[in-house]
Amino acid sequence: MTHTPAHVPLTLAEKASLTSGADNWTTSAVERAGILPVRLSDGPHGLRFQGGDQSDVLGLDGATAATCFPPAAALGCSWDPGLMERVGAALAAEAAALGVDVVLGPGVNIKRSPLCGRNFEYFSEDPLLAGVFGAAVVRGLQNAGTGAAVKHFAANNQETDRLRVSADIDERPLREIYLRAFERVVREARPWTVMAAYNAVNSTPACENHWLLTHVLRDEWGFDGLVMSDWGAVQDSVAAVRAGLDLRMPSTSGRSAAEVEAAVGAGQLDEEHLDRVAARAAGLSRRARRHGTPSGGPAPYEAHHALAREAAARSVVLLKNDGGLLPLDAGEDGGTVAVIGEFARTPRFQGGGSSQTTPTRVDTLLDSVRNLAGADRVHFAAGYAPAPAGGPRAAAGGHGDEAARLREAAVRAARDANTTVLFLGLPPEEETEGLDRTHLDLPEEQTALAGALAEATDRLVVVLANGGVVRVTPWSEPIPALVEGWLPGQAGGAALADVLFGVVNPSGKLTETIPHRLADTPSYLTFPGEEGHVRYGEGVFVGYRGYDARGTRVAFPFGHGLSYTDFAYDGLTVTVEPSGTPDGGSVLAQVEITNTGPVAGREIVQLYVAPPGTSQVARPERELRAFTDVTLEPGRSAWAQLRLPVRDLAYYSVREGGWRVEPGEYRFEAGSSSRDIRLDTVVVLEGDTPPVPTAESTLREWQRHPVAGPLLTAALSAAYEDDRRAARLLDDPVIRSIAEGMSLRAISEFAGSPVTGELLAELTAALSGAEAGGAVEADRDAGTAGRGSGAAPSRG
Ligand code: BGC
Repeated sequence: MTHTPAHVPLTLAEKASLTSGADNWTTSAVERAGILPVRLSDGPHGLRFQGGDQSDVLGLDGATAATCFPPAAALGCSWDPGLMERVGAALAAEAAALGVDVVLGPGVNIKRSPLCGRNFEYFSEDPLLAGVFGAAVVRGLQNAGTGAAVKHFAANNQETDRLRVSADIDERPLREIYLRAFERVVREARPWTVMAAYNAVNSTPACENHWLLTHVLRDEWGFDGLVMSDWGAVQDSVAAVRAGLDLRMPSTSGRSAAEVEAAVGAGQLDEEHLDRVAARAAGLSRRARRHGTPSGGPAPYEAHHALAREAAARSVVLLKNDGGLLPLDAGEDGGTVAVIGEFARTPRFQGGGSSQTTPTRVDTLLDSVRNLAGADRVHFAAGYAPAPAGGPRAAAGGHGDEAARLREAAVRAARDANTTVLFLGLPPEEETEGLDRTHLDLPEEQTALAGALAEATDRLVVVLANGGVVRVTPWSEPIPALVEGWLPGQAGGAALADVLFGVVNPSGKLTETIPHRLADTPSYLTFPGEEGHVRYGEGVFVGYRGYDARGTRVAFPFGHGLSYTDFAYDGLTVTVEPSGTPDGGSVLAQVEITNTGPVAGREIVQLYVAPPGTSQVARPERELRAFTDVTLEPGRSAWAQLRLPVRDLAYYSVREGGWRVEPGEYRFEAGSSSRDIRLDTVVVLEGDTPPVPTAESTLREWQRHPVAGPLLTAALSAAYEDDRRAARLLDDPVIRSIAEGMSLRAISEFAGSPVTGELLAELTAALSGAEAGGAVEADRDAGTAGRGSGAAPSRG
């Protein structure tokens, strides 16, 4: 049934009214034309649905109870898109139960700095992961009938000055790192909506950025949905509509619609823009009505709590397990357990701000350990005082005598127990929307407590609760077992207990590097910018790309995560399957994984690719290009298969205005982390044909070109015949290396140059003839050039 009567003309005022929301959470409607109101709700990892009173936009306390799934920082560490789809579907079920059409999420911004206060809402420092995981959540939501709003588009990587700051980024890192996750989500999962960010990108506000919202998002990527603003992000409604923004949120009580209408009347805004807005509003309304009839009944909250527990357990990252201290024995032989840390009974499981849910229930680690090991064997000590909500950092953990008293009681409990589990984490006020951290440290009281307990017992396990990365060195060095639990959502306590006692064998891997020091982080010198600008000076060298490029030691590398079993890698093969079309085909890597340890487990297999040494631009040492997982019983083996399009190996050439696969030797590396590469093999790819050189191209660029190179060589040999002295010029290694970096035009201007002005004119004419007449194509067919379709595996 079509809800939009065809060809009902809208008045100018009606069209203008569609450019802004009807209230905080509802789009405007023109019901006589079938454009119905669409209900929006945060997002991203649980519904924040405000039923009645909407005067408080944040409504943090007034939201209807909903399942708090693990935030993206945790969920991403599962590296499990199937699981993320199930979480998306569960979110959709809860949305449908409340009549919500679009969930405001997922957030796929890149973790440029570990200090960003909203990193808990984002997946990774790597664009492949952020894109694949974001697409999975969108599929889960939308296949179940609820729309997604992929946010925050784009380059929204900090909270400091977030409504004004301009993210100043060169086009190459913008394309390769910051836009890439959005591109994947848009192309693969076709989200109903995209949310434009608060910040400016290269000095133009994201909501008014035509290049971003129209040129890239729609014209290049083919986005066919609606673009809404972040809440309160639009400064100039007319400029925003002109740039391609469809919906300003929240409502401005008609003010911005009147501005838009007046601009059309005054000839400042073409009415066609409003036709576009109306078409997109109608499209969204159709999608929402086709799918999203309120289910009428409550969502299956118990089943969702179980899913939240499964997801949280799969997201735990076992950072360190010296001497196999974990898993703990839940039976009598396990002895007594001291559970220490206020967070074990007053858990931190989500961050602050617009994503903050009112959970349906919360599992604590303390209760969950008691359930598994038996209450009489478990003793609790708070260790540090609860963090005061909104209080200064110094106050967290208690003062003076009180802190000492808590610490001493904890040390006594640890001495009396066979094993101690210490729960540490960041105070809530350090992880919230609107604020960035200024350091990576846990509160001093907590690290001092860890030190005191490490002296009291050898059997100490530290569990961390944090959404953004925290510094773990040097305080964790004497501690044998370290578990990163992240902000794990409402079932996190039970999930962590499952991992500690081996009910679940951990398989999570880091989606971001844990550095030794803040000063080591690639964005350190420029984050968070000044005077309204933040310069992304590290370029593409974000996260592990930056640490690897400088050979910086890190505490735990990207991709790291241990298991209670071990895995061996064997027999890596990489084959290129040409497609016969200009897309360049695909690469298939296969590696045999064997579970060599004592228990069943899951290994996430990572495929990194190192670019050719002859690369024309500065490229990362290695980049994650594919991943998969295998689950194996002890002693069993399976082949992991990893596939990627050759075009994924391209870099973005600003000069050529497009993606380019360079010819040369690529090293494919299969590893258990970015710094635990087990096997590698080199594959030669022919890559894309370089651009046809001109008089201003360098000698090197001429030589590298498959048509121009031979032409030039032939012409120079002829010149050698005529003039031995001139020929010697280019035989001299010093002169030659200087000349290689000079344009042929400049070379031609030197007296006695073998490249004369006439020769250059002949060469460029021959080349443009070849380009027009198909000699380049003929050469391609002969296989000496081509768009990356041919490839020859070499040593392996
Ligand atoms: C946040 C968005 C959120 C919106 C609505 C904004 O402050 O940046 O992520 O969806 O508010 O609550």
